[in-house]
Amino acid sequence: MRIKKNDNVIMLSGKDRGKTGKVLVVLPRSEKVLVEGLNLIKRHVRARKQGQKGQIVSKERAVSVSSGALVCKSCGKTTRIGYKVEGENKVRVCKKCKGET
Ligand SMILES: [Zn+2]
Repeated sequence: MRIKKNDNVIMLSGKDRGKTGKVLVVLPRSEKVLVEGLNLIKRHVRARKQGQKGQIVSKERAVSVSSGALVCKSCGKTTRIGYKVEGENKVRVCKKCKGET
């Protein structure tokens, strides 16, 4: 998984195409991410108790990693990720600006 929590991603497909959002949760097993404010589903919640109102709650639904692209934090463009080894550490770099992301 090349996308990490707090990365910014732009949606490439689906109803939120072209929108960007911050990654809240990464689900490596299913290769999905939960992006803040994107791919919202509306859940209709019924009133459980008397006097309580039923309501519609919006909630993010996980999207497949392949339907989004990473937005670089340093150059602001959509990009692919490369890796660079610096001493003991492996750092992620943007393939466009070569900056660390
Ligand atoms: Zn960049």
